[in-house]
Amino acid sequence: MPDLTKTQIGRLTAALDQRYRLLKEEVQTELERSGESNYIDLAGGVHDTADESMADLLSDLSAESVHRQINEMRDIEAAQRRIRENEYGECVECGTEIGFERLLAYPTATRCIACQTHKEKMFAGSGRPSL
Ligand SMILES: [Zn+2]
Repeated sequence: MPDLTKTQIGRLTAALDQRYRLLKEEVQTELERSGESNYIDLAGGVHDTADESMADLLSDLSAESVHRQINEMRDIEAAQRRIRENEYGECVECGTEIGFERLLAYPTATRCIACQTHKEKMFAGSGRPSL
């Protein structure tokens, strides 16, 4: 586990939870608007157990209007899983600490700034793999 204090983890967990609730509300509103809310009872049907993925459940819906939210919910669920498994805050590319300030700005970040910048540069190129 990278060098994050309990307090820092607590703040990041709260930020993730808050963002997740907001996205869930957006999805619910959108589904109600589009008449798809009868597929799923977001408010009471699914409880927040550790293994249950709301995003997976929602991705079965044909609601393209909520794809962005569902993708972000998936990122948040992944971050929450990393917190539980003590892997949170570690860059997936190089294994160094992502850093609290960056995590506070992007709680779902999986890369340190160096690796993220590198990745963005690669994808910003010709759009073709450089191999
Ligand atoms: Zn890195």
